[in-house]
Amino acid sequence: MNQQQSQYVIVGGSAAGMAAAHAIREKDPRGKITVLSAEPDAPYFRPLIPFLVAGKKTPAEMAMTGCGPYTGKNIVIQTRARVASVDTTACCVVMEDGTRHGYKKILFATGSRPYVPPDIEGTDAEGVFALRTLVDAREMAARRERTTHAVMLGGGLLNLKAAFALLEKGVRVTLVVYSPEVLSQLMEPEDATLIRRALDKAGLSIMTGVAATGIIADASGVTAVALDNGDTLACQMVCIGKGVRPNVEFLAGSDVAVDGGIVADRYTGASLPDTYTAGDVAVTYEPVTGAPIMTALWTNAVEMGRCAGLNMAGVKTVYTGTFGILNATQVADEPFVSMGVVHTTGKDCEIYQKATSSTFRKLVFDANGTRLIGAVLVGDITNAGLYRYVIREKMDVARFKRPLIDHTLHYGHFMR
Ligand SMILES: Cc1cc2nc3c(=O)[nH]c(=O)nc-3n(C[C@H](O)[C@H](O)[C@H](O)COP(=O)(O)OP(=O)(O)OC[C@H]3O[C@@H](n4cnc5c(N)ncnc54)[C@H](O)[C@@H]3O)c2cc1C
Repeated sequence: MNQQQSQYVIVGGSAAGMAAAHAIREKDPRGKITVLSAEPDAPYFRPLIPFLVAGKKTPAEMAMTGCGPYTGKNIVIQTRARVASVDTTACCVVMEDGTRHGYKKILFATGSRPYVPPDIEGTDAEGVFALRTLVDAREMAARRERTTHAVMLGGGLLNLKAAFALLEKGVRVTLVVYSPEVLSQLMEPEDATLIRRALDKAGLSIMTGVAATGIIADASGVTAVALDNGDTLACQMVCIGKGVRPNVEFLAGSDVAVDGGIVADRYTGASLPDTYTAGDVAVTYEPVTGAPIMTALWTNAVEMGRCAGLNMAGVKTVYTGTFGILNATQVADEPFVSMGVVHTTGKDCEIYQKATSSTFRKLVFDANGTRLIGAVLVGDITNAGLYRYVIREKMDVARFKRPLIDHTLHYGHFMR
């Protein structure tokens, strides 16, 4: 059968896939690289898409082209190219239209997609979104024009970003959160006090401890959300932010090991020779505990993608693990960082906490008090990189525990 052939095939053209392509090209100037991407848009910076909803950036301003890794690097990117399955015996992928593409080495960097809870009725109505792609952002921006009230289901970071994009355009926004507080994946409820205050001040309505049971719609699309406390919120738009799930379905029936996501070894290899994985879809390990972990962070995807690219190009490179850090993010102008072990209720650990009217700092040490294992910083995130370093390197903190706690740590403290 007539089929295309590439030295390197990368499935998924986003953070991990493009970082890998770039790393391969650095080490192998000639090998043909083909990126197969299901989306209609060329690679772009996904975390920027709320700016399209807010009308602050155009798709062109989010494109990786120009500042991205592949310009002029002879990397072929095929958009609207969804891989339906992988034949690892014949070393080829099968596209949705049945065409095949052979590879010598392949990277699975298919990322994740929003989880839409099946127990909420009516999620297929017009005006219901889960912001993930530029296509979603365009559709949300169009719907925004006829929206006076939007209801966001879920209090995670992505929903907060989407909520602010709408607030900035004058849309009234209500966040419906099942947990006792927003950002429950990233910190404990009391640690989020400053952030909550900033969100309230910014004009976001937040309902905690309630869940949506159904979405009500008519010919114009969504008209209301029904809640489990019996209330109904009239609205013209709903955004679901209930976490993500890895895109692994195309591997059904293949021998590639999947356990939640695609299982990676310490060199980003998937379970078969010449197969690799990186990014949101990959199961890697957490450097503090060594436990398997999947994260959904751009920075992690880029780091792991780069490592996979080096390994694919023959430069054996160990992946140092995925650290659950959220780098320098802010909501409602309140910067914060959450890293490592931050949920401490009922855990045997030592905690130092300090709150002022504008800052909050929580440091989590192991039970012996000799290792820093987690940190939450709100308001003042200076030195977050140092905390990350101390956690990641599993350093014995005996020599600099006081400055660590007092927030006066600097690199000099690491000198022997
Ligand atoms: C609104 C928003 C804001 C965010 N903000 C931040 C932030 O501030 N900081 C941060 O660190 N992270 C943020 N993230 C998360 C970050 O964008 C992701 O962690 C990152 O994009 C993961 O990159 P990836 O390459 O692993 O996968 P993805 O970006 O998910 O890309 C995977 C690509 O593979 C394609 N694909 C899937 N299946 C197939 C198939 N079978 N065939 C071909 N192609 C396929 C997909 O269509 C997609 O284009 C945000 C995400 C969103 C949606």
